[in-house]
Amino acid sequence: MKTLKCPLCGNELTSIFRMTKTGSLKNKYGCLICGWETFELRKNENLAWKDAKEFISKFPPIMRSHQGDNLKLDFEDDVLTLIGKDTSRGKLYLQNCDGDVEIATPEDVEQWPWELEQKGGSNDI
Ligand SMILES: [Zn+2]
Repeated sequence: MKTLKCPLCGNELTSIFRMTKTGSLKNKYGCLICGWETFELRKNENLAWKDAKEFISKFPPIMRSHQGDNLKLDFEDDVLTLIGKDTSRGKLYLQNCDGDVEIATPEDVEQWPWELEQKGGSNDI
């Protein structure tokens, strides 16, 4: 199963187990730092993971991109690595393979990390 990261803080989501009154173990996903978690307790991790994935997919792309992710701008051939972001101002700080830093906005992005089909990407949803 791939890793899901919190759209708010970038922390890796944790599988949370809860014991119901009848003694069965149920599952949901959440962020231990932000405190948000998926609402419904599911009978297995896979279903809970799907809930979290759907929740995250509703966030704007800049929220779903995290440090270390690769993305491609529409005016550059190279794939750039995200080294930082300012979500309130809509700015992405990127670095190319030569170490040059570039500042872009979400409108400049042609392919987001999950659109690049990279294997094992942190945001491959
Ligand atoms: Zn979080």
